[in-house]
Amino acid sequence: MFFPLRFLDTFANLPYIKNSSDYHKGSGMERTYKRSRQRERILETLMQTTTHPTADWVYARLKPDFPDLSLGTVYRNLNILVEQDLVRRIDNGSSFDRYDARRDPHYHFVCEQCGKIIDLGIPVDTALEDRVSGETGLVIKRHKIDFFGLCQDCQTQSGIRPD
Ligand SMILES: [Zn+2]
Ligand SMILES: [Zn+2]
Repeated sequence: MFFPLRFLDTFANLPYIKNSSDYHKGSGMERTYKRSRQRERILETLMQTTTHPTADWVYARLKPDFPDLSLGTVYRNLNILVEQDLVRRIDNGSSFDRYDARRDPHYHFVCEQCGKIIDLGIPVDTALEDRVSGETGLVIKRHKIDFFGLCQDCQTQSGIRPD
């Protein structure tokens, strides 16, 4: 199922009610979000896994607890969590977005055969940002690098790597 981002944005524009604890401001943005139990559970579910799951996976996990939950609601809430900087959307080179609630900067490896996404332990290279800003005069705030290839399991399966 595919929802254009613009379409989902319209759902995020909920009214701001002053002095109501049900509403709070987003991370430095003017946009505001109504707190929702479903969204909190979506975030919790993401924080409890390191597999960088799809929206479908999150939906299947939460559906038993929220019988009214729809996949569209999961997508909408994931988009809000991404806008709030609580969740990262990962470009995995395929059609389904994957999501990550780990917030410290880290690189990803994406297996092109099985689709597994692995957190890499190597430190994020801030020297690269200095190099780019030094050479171009641009102000660099962050950068994103994903590595693509074959995971260890897929190497073993395809005989590249001995068991
Ligand atoms: Zn693999
Ligand atoms: Zn990650």
